[in-house]
Amino acid sequence: MDHQPNLPYADVALQIPAIESYQYAVPPLLEDAIVPGALVRVPVKGGERSGCVLRRTAEKKAKRHKSVMERLTPDFRLSPELLTLGGWMAEYYMCGLGEALQCISFIGFKDVRTLSVKKYGAADEAAALHALSHERLTDKQRAVLEFFLQAPQGAWTAEDIQESTNSSRAVTLGLVKRGLARERRETVRREDDYPTAEGIEPPLKLTEEQSAAFQRIIENLDAQRFGAHLLHGVTGSGKTEIYLQAIGRTLEQGRQAIVLVPEISLTPQTIERFRKRFGARVGVYNSALNIGQKYDLYLAIQRGEIDIVIGARSAVFTPFPRLGLIVIDEEQEASYKQDSAPRYHARDVALMRASKTDAAVIMGTATPSLEAYRNAEAGKFALLCLRQRPNAAPLPPVRLIDMQREAMINRNTGLFSLELIEEVNRRLEAGEQSILFLNRRGYNPIVMCRECGYRCSCEHDDILLTYHKRRNMLVCHLCGQAIPMPSRCPQCESKAFHAIGMGTERIEEEVAEAFPGAKCLRIDLDTTSSKFSYLEKWREINEGGVDIILGTQMIAKGFDLPRVTLVGVVMADVSLFQPDFRASERTFNLLTQVAGRAGRRDKEGLVCVQTYCPDHFSILCAQKHDYAAFYNREIRYRATLRLPPHTRLIGLLITGADPDQTQRMARVLRGVIDRVIRAGVDDALATALGPAPAAVAYINKKYRWRLLLRGGKPSVMRSIVSRALADFEQHNPRSRTHITIDVDPLDLM
Ligand code: ADP
Ligand code: ZN
Repeated sequence: MDHQPNLPYADVALQIPAIESYQYAVPPLLEDAIVPGALVRVPVKGGERSGCVLRRTAEKKAKRHKSVMERLTPDFRLSPELLTLGGWMAEYYMCGLGEALQCISFIGFKDVRTLSVKKYGAADEAAALHALSHERLTDKQRAVLEFFLQAPQGAWTAEDIQESTNSSRAVTLGLVKRGLARERRETVRREDDYPTAEGIEPPLKLTEEQSAAFQRIIENLDAQRFGAHLLHGVTGSGKTEIYLQAIGRTLEQGRQAIVLVPEISLTPQTIERFRKRFGARVGVYNSALNIGQKYDLYLAIQRGEIDIVIGARSAVFTPFPRLGLIVIDEEQEASYKQDSAPRYHARDVALMRASKTDAAVIMGTATPSLEAYRNAEAGKFALLCLRQRPNAAPLPPVRLIDMQREAMINRNTGLFSLELIEEVNRRLEAGEQSILFLNRRGYNPIVMCRECGYRCSCEHDDILLTYHKRRNMLVCHLCGQAIPMPSRCPQCESKAFHAIGMGTERIEEEVAEAFPGAKCLRIDLDTTSSKFSYLEKWREINEGGVDIILGTQMIAKGFDLPRVTLVGVVMADVSLFQPDFRASERTFNLLTQVAGRAGRRDKEGLVCVQTYCPDHFSILCAQKHDYAAFYNREIRYRATLRLPPHTRLIGLLITGADPDQTQRMARVLRGVIDRVIRAGVDDALATALGPAPAAVAYINKKYRWRLLLRGGKPSVMRSIVSRALADFEQHNPRSRTHITIDVDPLDLM
């Protein structure tokens, strides 16, 4: 099928922005090796690079051609389906095709080999038995031979033998020399380090709600057609059980399934749950694997040994030839969006991929993103709801603690209210655990009046202004409006008007002060880098007498902690006060997730939320576990401001070493975009916003400004951006700035 003799050239995508491919000649020796999807090394000006073959062609694109040097990882190949997906990504996310393919390819554009090791076993059972009774052997040789004879066909590495018989490799080699043992090279699969389990756990009997949802899903699965399902249910409502059964159904049809989970949920516990149902057919793919492990997983998939892959974002590219199902757990999670090129969103790629391969998609979450829920309302996704928890554990009550009152009435300006301290103490006495949750997100602080609670927001778009110390200004990160920092509160004239925010260090000190003698454990991204430390931390929490767990996002999910009966959110406002139009959504999600942590077992849990805005709807809705109320209010707010999901955004980040130059170029680019829009485009909603300083306004000696293009039609928006950039580059060839494009940005960088 792939044999294309007499096509003398190969178009090769390299990892370079913007340019689709370069053309090379195919040397006769590589005639059969250079097929679409093959990885190759090619010469470029001043060196060599690796890339991916797109096609063989007779159509000459250059005057003279250099030749492909070699094929990399000869057993690896991107399928036509994934090559096409790469083309879509490059177009949609406005990145280079090579950049997209490099990301799609399980092993990048690398040259990888299988690992083989020498293994030893008995050469011949009868001869070995004979030798044991009739020949002179040392004790060690005897031990090794006897070990081999326990499984005469078996083969072991020198390390295995050493471990079981305490004999060195030399002993085994002696046996080989005498013809009693054999040596052979065997390819070994470099496995992931997650726990293994045999498939032992049978499916549960679904509840009525679960089974109604499941029926809808299998309608599409059985018909082998594309269908997107939004499975909306709180933590513990039995979503995972539905995933498991849908996967089971997919396998029965001889098809394969991908399960995406947020990076921080990729815990041994999660993997174990799937392996208990499906055993060794479950593979894990994530960035923590080394390249050898990734390659061996690819080969295992090729051999048909693996038909379920669980992983973070990039597992969406798992090269299954018969993809039947993609599950996306916690669909709203920001970690599904990649923050370097290609800046893709795994949910959206999953939907695109599934629609092309007639696969079903299940997006499960307690707090759907506004984008997903709106699609469900519009009928693009089937909405499936789980309202009850199968084990009937009630959702914990959520108590709001007004920190402004705390300051005024209790004269307590510490981090912890008296009420929260009392609740923690009660847990300490009962030998139960508490989680104290802090959210350290945020680059520039919000300023707030400690007396009246007043905060400054932008008069154009209602976004909270953030404090920029360098310029002593308050700045809107959406439209760029900036005002001088007031010295007193504009509302009550109090002098207690300053930046809020806190570090983990301060909280640790205050915890030590408030709860002397309690054993605390801190968990956040800095202290928990590898997958092993997850397991260690989990053990320490459950077996090591930990009383109080301090943490960030990490502990909002992933961990299933049976002894936790209290969750305290130290300052809900840290996420609420983000200068981002998604701040309310994030706060609601976070509080809902955190609430799901308490009372998962038999004991009743309690959630205490400390806040300066106990009346804010995102906090009130989270308190009532009322997603619908939250959605209805938030979706109207987004409509008035013409923000996603009513519109689409493309972010442009302009960076440069010179502060004035960079700002000026950002303004120039804005002007160019305005001209392109005025020149008449087919998108009534197209407008530009900014430039505004990026949330991180200065980093790595670069100043960063942000522009946003808002519109209704992605294809028109992309053409506005490419036309504007072409024009900008033509007229400002030496702008000394760099421009990054982010389609559907989640984070206003
Ligand atoms: P979620 O994925 O929504 O958090 P899970 O699928 O993990 O929920 O289910 C939560 C708990 O309820 C688990 O302990 C699970 O074993 C149990 N469970 C789920 N479905 C059923 C069922 N149909 N019958 C009994 N227990 C169930
Ligand atoms: Zn503004």
